[in-house]
Amino acid sequence: MAHAPQGASKEELKRHKRHIANIIDLNKCMGCQTCSAACKSLWTSREGTEHMRWMNVSTYPGAGYPRNYEQMGGGFDAEGEPTPGALPNYVDSGDALEFNHAEVLYGGTGDKAHLKPSAALTGEDPEWGYNWDEDEGAGKWPNGYYFYLPRKCYHCTDAPCLDACTHNAIYKRDEDGIVVLDQDRCHGDRLCVEACPYKAIYYNPVTEKGEKCIMCYPRVEQGIAPACDRQCPGRTRLFGYSDDEDSDLYKMINVHKVALPLHPEFGTDPNVFYIPPFESTKAFAEDGSITDVGRIEMSVLEELFGPDVEQVVRKLRDEREKKKRGEPSEIMDLLIGRNYWDRFKGFDKDPAEGQADEQVISFRLTPKQTA
Ligand code: SF4
Ligand code: SF4
Repeated sequence: MAHAPQGASKEELKRHKRHIANIIDLNKCMGCQTCSAACKSLWTSREGTEHMRWMNVSTYPGAGYPRNYEQMGGGFDAEGEPTPGALPNYVDSGDALEFNHAEVLYGGTGDKAHLKPSAALTGEDPEWGYNWDEDEGAGKWPNGYYFYLPRKCYHCTDAPCLDACTHNAIYKRDEDGIVVLDQDRCHGDRLCVEACPYKAIYYNPVTEKGEKCIMCYPRVEQGIAPACDRQCPGRTRLFGYSDDEDSDLYKMINVHKVALPLHPEFGTDPNVFYIPPFESTKAFAEDGSITDVGRIEMSVLEELFGPDVEQVVRKLRDEREKKKRGEPSEIMDLLIGRNYWDRFKGFDKDPAEGQADEQVISFRLTPKQTA
């Protein structure tokens, strides 16, 4: 296995020639968890990874995953100084819940028994788990609201997890900027988890090392989009190189500027972007009539995507009105995304044509060039 050179500087470990990027359209996500399941079955079905969801989808507002990660610190402050961070515990990270499927489905008691989780380690009733508060949201009846927020590692350009590792186990790949965690170098002290403001690194209690999303780089190397992006039935995803000017992804981020990072105030320059929900269900007035005001308040979106979200939402609404009037709108056409392959420009190869996952499912790492 190739490692980053022991004495490499953090600048060298962050250096990369190009960068891949992702866009997720929150207007189209239906919370089906196909992306989470695709990732889970591909990468985290090993012992010690039961609680890990490198790709996860939570209801927003909600506790998120890991639970309350937004309040756990990490990242950088406005002066660029590292912000102290806390560690999520095993339960915050989802626990390893087991369900009584056998009793309900095969025990002949299906009409009396109901599905119930128990914690795998203790056998006790859990108090929290992944998607525990699913579809609860916020707002007062009859104007409640929520939306789904898919998250994974943001493969940050200025990755604080990389800075925090005292063993140089984390680096960005030269060819695509993907942030990888070298299992042979990791000592399991979790400084990276504290430093990551998105809490996208998980601790494996069996191997006693950290693990994280690898952006399916064995697939990416073969021109295949990551499993979570490829499998999304809602066509929420775009994937590709951030400097590919002919791609839909580039146009959305750099030309039309309608894709925003999550929590830009964390200061890490993330490479997964979101199209914010721009047309929420209209609120009811007290007399029951329908108003022209969306249920999701702008302040809620600003908390997530920063102050730029207001003008992005305005632009998206204007473009939608243009389309409704029958006028051309490249933004709406890109969002609709009729051509599947345009969404993954350069990474549109069918997984069935690639090397079998079993043959590439290893944590082999490509060398970090530091010369
Ligand atoms: Fe590192 Fe967290 Fe950024 Fe991923 S999201 S690169 S784990 S700081
Ligand atoms: Fe949302 Fe797509 Fe994931 Fe389904 S697969 S939860 S639609 S992002």
